[in-house]
Amino acid sequence: MALEIKTLGDPVLREECRDVEAVDREIDELIEAMGETLKASPGRVGLAASQVGVLKRLFVFDTGSGLRCLINPEIVETADETMCEEGCLSLPGVYVSIPRFGRVKVRCMTPSGHRIAIEAEGFAAQLLQHECDHLEGVLIIDRCDPEEKKRALEEYQQLAIQREQATA
Ligand code: ZN
Repeated sequence: MALEIKTLGDPVLREECRDVEAVDREIDELIEAMGETLKASPGRVGLAASQVGVLKRLFVFDTGSGLRCLINPEIVETADETMCEEGCLSLPGVYVSIPRFGRVKVRCMTPSGHRIAIEAEGFAAQLLQHECDHLEGVLIIDRCDPEEKKRALEEYQQLAIQREQATA
């Protein structure tokens, strides 16, 4: 069953997530539900637990080669800073230009309990940084310059009003 995705204004998006101690049944079910939620969001590639209101350090993503889940991820190496255009399921309709690293190395645990390190570049690297940010309560509007943040928030508000009118 797809879960409700929290959007900007929900305080849970600003909280820091806590480490997952063990992959028990509760975590398994959460991962499954998050996977379904991501699948139900066309064109989207990643979803962090805090975005569905659960403060656990994990996220799911699918960059085209199947659904994956990373638990307790930690970015341990970065290189090649560049500017990226980025959106977020929690800020529907908003895109901002922000600095990201073109290459990252992430240490994490898989749902089967294996400790692994992933090296990613380009879009995949951008995605991993985006999801790791969520686990710290950081959103894309925190990473762009103040002018762009103002513009993005105004745009977001306009879109929110339009959505409300559409459902009224
Ligand atoms: Zn996001």
